[in-house]
Amino acid sequence: MRVTLTFDNGPDPVGTPAVLDALSDRGIPAVFFVVGAKVKKHPDLVSRISAAGHTLGNHTWSHSSPLGDVTEPGVARAEIDRTQDVIEESRTARRLFRPVGGDPGAVIDHRLLNDEAMKTLTDGGYTMALWNVVPRDWELPDSWLEGAIDACRAVDHAVVVLHDGHPAGMALLPTFLDALGEENAEFRTDFPSSCTPVVKGVPRPESAALVTADPHPYLHSSTMKEQP
Ligand SMILES: [Zn+2]
Repeated sequence: MRVTLTFDNGPDPVGTPAVLDALSDRGIPAVFFVVGAKVKKHPDLVSRISAAGHTLGNHTWSHSSPLGDVTEPGVARAEIDRTQDVIEESRTARRLFRPVGGDPGAVIDHRLLNDEAMKTLTDGGYTMALWNVVPRDWELPDSWLEGAIDACRAVDHAVVVLHDGHPAGMALLPTFLDALGEENAEFRTDFPSSCTPVVKGVPRPESAALVTADPHPYLHSSTMKEQP
């Protein structure tokens, strides 16, 4: 069983240290997709992630809405590039972008990107990193474990989305990691081709399905609630 563990929406002063401890106790590497505005608030946590050898990726600056819903020019590019600017000095940062999945959680469709976001990824040589196992830890903090192992078994190379940015769900992380260990999971920090529609700035044909063709103006711009 191949597993890439990813932790999104942090850094968070409670969730990130808990995740780092659980990983370090077991010698497991992971990828942290951080939110730029939170990096600005908690640079020490980003240093800890990097010092522990974990990969840092980009999960927008504000995490306020899927970039496919953004119509104001300049916003999508700033969401991506501003975040990359604040993580780039970390030794373990990569040009790895994870879009905001929207609500209801973690959808993979045309709402993920607008044209400007896609152009930013291709101009900047980014790799886009999606997911294939979504235990919904932010929604089911006490019960997401059920089914998570089965979901990992069901794919050739699991890319699991969890959230250090939602600390409540991370109480179950040690149990999950131990269960994966019992399955002899091979922990990695790369992504299967089915989860990377853009690689180093080069879009695959299927990436077109992730870009909105007809932006719907300001659909989510007034809602700032936390999304997965
Ligand atoms: Zn997110």
